Amino acid sequence: MSSGACAPYDLKCKECGKSYGNQPLSICDECFSPLEVFYDLDAVKGSVTRESIAAGPASIWRYRALLPIPEGFQPDLPVGFTPLVKANNLGKRLGASDIYVKNDAVCFPTLSFKDRVVAVALANARYFGFDTVGASSTGNLANSVAAQAARLGLKSCILIPADLEPAKILNTLIYGARQVRNDGN
Ligand SMILES: [Zn+2]
Repeated sequence: MSSGACAPYDLKCKECGKSYGNQPLSICDECFSPLEVFYDLDAVKGSVTRESIAAGPASIWRYRALLPIPEGFQPDLPVGFTPLVKANNLGKRLGASDIYVKNDAVCFPTLSFKDRVVAVALANARYFGFDTVGASSTGNLANSVAAQAARLGLKSCILIPADLEPAKILNTLIYGARQVRNDGN
């Protein structure tokens, strides 16, 4: 696995522009807007190229230089890199010859596109020293958090509605997640 440095990044408020560095925060304390990751792409111009990406592993980690992953915290699971499938009939209908659909139903490890974002989020959770991660979800996100937390030796906690049918959360509980049933949505 590559452990090269990534583009410098910074959590920033999209509305008021306040910078937060890399902290476990999601909301701006000045204006309550969501924070987003901003990258200094000029800093990696020249070192990150189509060729350098193509030379990387067959997983999300080939894009490591463009992901907010602290040095030394890249997970080892080969997440992502799901195939593109040519959609001939859709192409005909739309009058386009090159239409592809991304088949995220084969994403590793839990067959959901959520595996990618969770892989990056949990790398940061480890960096911040958290021992427990959580999600409010009744499906793919819960599953991915529970599975990847188990892999990384983190505890996971899934918040679900109190009346959710047990079958819906069974898959997630197999990974050892703690379920917290909440009266409400
Ligand atoms: Zn703000």
